[in-house]
Amino acid sequence: AKYVYFFGNGKAEGRAEMKNLLGGKGANLAEMTSIGLPVPAGFTITTEVCTEFYKNDRNYPAGLKEEVAENLRQVEGLMGKRFGDPENPLLVSVRSGARASMPGMMDTILNLGLNDTTVQGIIEQSRDDRFAYDAYRRFVQMYSDVVMGMNKDELEHILEKKKEEKGARLDTDLTAADWKELVGKFKARIKEVLGQDFPEDPQEQLWGAIGAVFGSWMNQRAITYRKLNNIPADWGTAVNVQSMVFGNMGNDCATGVAFTRDPSTGKNYFYGEYLINAQGEDVVAGIRTPQPINKANGDSCLPSMEETMPECYRQLVEIRSILEKHYKDMQDIEFTIEKGKLYMLQTRNGKRTATAAIKVAVDMVREGLIDEKTAVLRVAPSQLDQLLHPSLDPKAPKKIIAKGLPASPGAAGGEVVFTADEAEAAAKVGLKVILVRVETSPEDIHGMHAAQGILTARGGMTSHAAVVARGMGKCCVAGCGDIKVDYAAGQFVANGGLVVKKGDVVTLDGSTGEVILGSVPTVTPEMTGDFATLMTWVDKFRKLKVRTNADTPKDSKTAREFGAEGIGLCRTEHMFFEADRIAAVREMILAEDVEGRKKALVKILPMQKGDFLGIFREMKGLPVTIRLLDPPLHEFLPHEDKDIDELAKTMGVTPKTLKNKVEYLHEFNPMLGHRGCRLGLTFPEIYDMQVQAIMEAACELVKNEGFDIVPEIMIPLVAVDKELKTLRENAITVCEEVIGRYGIKVEYLIGTMIELPRAALTADEIALEAEFFSFGTNDLTQTTFGLSRDDAGKFLPFYVESGLLEDDPFVSLDQNGVGQLVKIACEKGRATRPHIKLGICGEHGGDPASVIFCHKIGLDYVSCSPFRVPIARLAAAHAAL
Ligand code: ADP
Ligand code: MG
Ligand code: MG
Repeated sequence: AKYVYFFGNGKAEGRAEMKNLLGGKGANLAEMTSIGLPVPAGFTITTEVCTEFYKNDRNYPAGLKEEVAENLRQVEGLMGKRFGDPENPLLVSVRSGARASMPGMMDTILNLGLNDTTVQGIIEQSRDDRFAYDAYRRFVQMYSDVVMGMNKDELEHILEKKKEEKGARLDTDLTAADWKELVGKFKARIKEVLGQDFPEDPQEQLWGAIGAVFGSWMNQRAITYRKLNNIPADWGTAVNVQSMVFGNMGNDCATGVAFTRDPSTGKNYFYGEYLINAQGEDVVAGIRTPQPINKANGDSCLPSMEETMPECYRQLVEIRSILEKHYKDMQDIEFTIEKGKLYMLQTRNGKRTATAAIKVAVDMVREGLIDEKTAVLRVAPSQLDQLLHPSLDPKAPKKIIAKGLPASPGAAGGEVVFTADEAEAAAKVGLKVILVRVETSPEDIHGMHAAQGILTARGGMTSHAAVVARGMGKCCVAGCGDIKVDYAAGQFVANGGLVVKKGDVVTLDGSTGEVILGSVPTVTPEMTGDFATLMTWVDKFRKLKVRTNADTPKDSKTAREFGAEGIGLCRTEHMFFEADRIAAVREMILAEDVEGRKKALVKILPMQKGDFLGIFREMKGLPVTIRLLDPPLHEFLPHEDKDIDELAKTMGVTPKTLKNKVEYLHEFNPMLGHRGCRLGLTFPEIYDMQVQAIMEAACELVKNEGFDIVPEIMIPLVAVDKELKTLRENAITVCEEVIGRYGIKVEYLIGTMIELPRAALTADEIALEAEFFSFGTNDLTQTTFGLSRDDAGKFLPFYVESGLLEDDPFVSLDQNGVGQLVKIACEKGRATRPHIKLGICGEHGGDPASVIFCHKIGLDYVSCSPFRVPIARLAAAHAAL
């Protein structure tokens, strides 16, 4: 097998398509080299080596050492330098790079190859001993941290002491002699703490670093990131060894990062930041506040690269356009300028907010770069969630206490916390928090995940906090220099000396960068412009219909605005809970006999009819599936003495009698108790009343308002075909009576929910009585797993965390188990009724992976909550493409 791929001087053995083998970084370094961009020469050790390494008890495959040596010789040849040479030494970086980009997860080592001898060669070559020793000490710091496991703070502390002693404020105030002395002190301290010498031999350094990259694949940070992003552990990482270029050799040097379009808004202009005389991670780490690359970037009063290095800027603009034409997507690039010469160090498809994803996709279709299908596939369904969430109400008053960079849009409020662990602990008990940090690092990921929003005092638009927040779809205000964070005191000070303590509530507006004291009301977004354009393409490609779960005219309206094509689940019980109705409902439930129930139902009938009139009107003839009463009766019962007394009076019975009846109706396991069609069978007059209300509403609208309505009446929790047969006959009798009374022709469908395993397994029999099936996958998941949704919170998270279950089966359909029942039911149902209408109405209807599954097994529609309708539409299009 070939383990190492070379790139340099316009030629590369790898290609962009080889991400699986070379990792994202390596594949793109090769590609950039081939298309003639200036990339420092180097080579990539494949991900297969990583996989083999772990398979063989952390041993390298045979032949690797020789291949690495051979490739290193090639790099030396191109660069005219030799690794470890005392006069003209080659220095390299050792960089990790997995298939999917894992920002900040793996540690890069720069300036490798330096020792007490080679540093002399660097001094000769650069004629700059300060630079040489600065590079050397950086190397010792990075290497001892990443490879040797030395605590960073140990050396940082020595550095701080030195600065104090010299009265130096910045690193740049230290001299060559200072750095030289520090290298010695660092090494001594390393020896003291670790009992081990810092390696002088460049070969030993190189292999130490390679081993550390492979080792970091299994570090806690990487494991956490993979888990959050569903990246399999067996993908492995590649290692890139690349000759160094220096952004820190003086004021004609720089390092920077840029996006070919604005990653926050998607606007088509070059967005980037750079730092003069700096190396590597300085920009991303937020150590100094970086400068914008172009003048148009607005707010900053710092000089742009366009002004300070116009020639390099011009080249970079040209590269931007080459890359976009080549990759046909927005790129996130890293570059370094050494003595006025520009080098490209990385490119990848840029992470972006949902707004930006949509704008970039739609713009690129207009620019002729991609077609509509590609545009649709560019936007991840789950990403839309960000857009469908509320933003701050512009009319609400707000007390702005600081302003930072609008690093990731959206709005969020919560109690202030200062550490990732606090954020996580607070989220566990259901608190909403805002994580406030001076800057964030990969160690903070779990806290960022748990928080509603992130606020940092330092760092730019491409800082760790900003990049990770955008990836997570979390609102973030970064680089907020207005605030002074004091971890020890558990507080930050904002404008005007205002002190915000841990636990105080603040609200962030990630679209403006504003930090606001207290909580601010939010408004729902409008679906216009590029979003609407994209959704018209989405609708062209998808085959699945998307309906909504809605119980009120208001929800129906929202859902229609989001593009719902009908109601897949209208729950009638929600109408029973309203304050002015509950008394009549209780009266019905607690009635002694049929007569008593009928008396109460007469009061409820006009209310139910009114509900259906409103919903039918709002849906303008689109299909509406109405589920007859489903929940256990006890959910409606009065428990307070006060309520019981009152009700007893209305019903003309004693409170004692009523109390006894309430106790009698108590159930031990109500979810498996007297509910669903079991109610309809034992108290037929309840369903009769509901069917009457549905049909009267439909007939009235058809007759008086010219609507075209075919109500779909759905009977829940059927286990046995005979249950459905009886209830269907009852419903038909009522329907025909109403239709006859109105003297018009109205069609209707009667169907059932499939939410019990027995129903799924006997779906062929049940289909004889049902014109449609709607899969109630919430209950079907509960009953298939034997898992109570209301109690699962105590142990289900453990199942997911420890990998016993891949996902929460109530969030993403368990395709293997529950999904199999759905599939069986579809096949059996179609066997006896070929054109039976099939849909799903559980929470899963809005989960992208579940929607794709529904498409695959050939359902007609999915139904989900109004806000998830666009997500389901997009997922359905992805499934079809
Ligand atoms: P990450 O995956 O965390 O982005 P990288 O491997 O891209 O890590 O390295 C981080 C930074 O180190 C780069 O952005 C670049 O500035 C610097 N760097 C890496 N390799 C080199 C090199 N050969 N010459 C100069 N700088 C380098
Ligand atoms: Mg990088
Ligand atoms: Mg159910």
